[in-house]
Amino acid sequence: MRVLLVGGGGREHALALGLAGDPAVEALVAAPGNPGIAAVAQLREVTPTDPAAVAALAVEVAADLVVIGPEAPLVAGVADAVRAKGIAVFGPSAEAARLEGSKTFAKDVMTAAGVPTARAYTCEDAAAVARALDDFGAPYVVKDDGLAAGKGVVVTDDRAVAERHAAECGRVVIEEYLSGPEVSLFVVTDGEAAAPLLPAQDFKRVGDGDTGPNTGGMGAYAPLPWAPPDLVDDVMRDVVHPTLAELRRRGTPFAGLLYVGLAITPSGPRVIEFNARFGDPETQVVLALLETPLGGLLHAAATGTLGAHPPLRWRDGAAVTVVVAADGYPAGPRTGDVITGADRAGIIHAGTRRDADGTLRSAGGRVLCGTATGPDLAAARDAAYALVRDVELAGAHHRTDIAAAAVDGRITIPG
Ligand code: AMP
Repeated sequence: MRVLLVGGGGREHALALGLAGDPAVEALVAAPGNPGIAAVAQLREVTPTDPAAVAALAVEVAADLVVIGPEAPLVAGVADAVRAKGIAVFGPSAEAARLEGSKTFAKDVMTAAGVPTARAYTCEDAAAVARALDDFGAPYVVKDDGLAAGKGVVVTDDRAVAERHAAECGRVVIEEYLSGPEVSLFVVTDGEAAAPLLPAQDFKRVGDGDTGPNTGGMGAYAPLPWAPPDLVDDVMRDVVHPTLAELRRRGTPFAGLLYVGLAITPSGPRVIEFNARFGDPETQVVLALLETPLGGLLHAAATGTLGAHPPLRWRDGAAVTVVVAADGYPAGPRTGDVITGADRAGIIHAGTRRDADGTLRSAGGRVLCGTATGPDLAAARDAAYALVRDVELAGAHHRTDIAAAAVDGRITIPG
């Protein structure tokens, strides 16, 4: 199987490692890729959000499968353009990707499907915003209605901050605050059959102890020793299958990766958000533990044959990833700084570029992540931090508490 992977961040580096490790994948092309991906794939230039350009590249490289990593190409209709060429693609249509592209659409589908989620209002003016904030009270949750790379959400006790964010975004979704630990559950689906991956937890806030602004994600670990034993079965029954059925009913089946972001509240799991693609950085830990060959799994989802795919196999132990972010991230990351110590196994490249002379430089807010597995969470955590300690990048910062509460048994479900 010849595979074209679209994207160039940490998630795509993790996907590339998984695909390259599948004996059925005889050729892997990544576009545009990154210096880390270059070690396992041939890189090609492309604008990932240009449907015609990606489809043409898929034809040119004779791809049997196209895997689309980021959300923007999906929302732009890249999967539709590739499918129109008769090539199998892992990633939903633009219509189905609205599950991520529009918070209002996602709420509408959840309501129709009876999926447990936060109560919410879509607001377009200051008066509606004020009414919604009054109704729910603090903490206030205000979300930009469109795509915002994980940074369009403000959760705050400060009413003025909530109102300012709403005014800046224009159309917002304001919702009830959900309390409880968060879980990311990835589900591979062909629209009908659905295979859950291991639940993971990520860390959205920039600072230790969940302080500071939201980011794209500062670290992750899997599996979750504290998760209720029935969690995955319950979420498949109450969230995933009803959502997939509702999208089929609307004539826009969702095939690809359904990412369910949940809060485990005292009244059970509640959906915080859906995404239409693998999450970054949870992908790094989940795929590090997946033993089932990745190319075959994604190909089955892309060709409507997931129901016949064998059950997934997982490695024992745990995985942890720690993101190293550039100076100034998330507000205004500085790029172009020299990175050393990053060319080693376990370092996943997210925002890097390489000069002609081989010098590695930062090229994004989240620069790289140290990803390690171990016989248990404590060992995986130690190994991931050991990787990060060896990386040098001026002004870089990372959280020091990734997976710490889980290792110490400090995560509890309120109730
Ligand atoms: P989202 O982009 O919707 O995933 O939101 C980003 C982050 O904001 C989530 O991971 C949560 O930490 C937080 N968040 C979003 N919605 C809520 C909510 N209704 N209650 C509590 N926290 C939320």
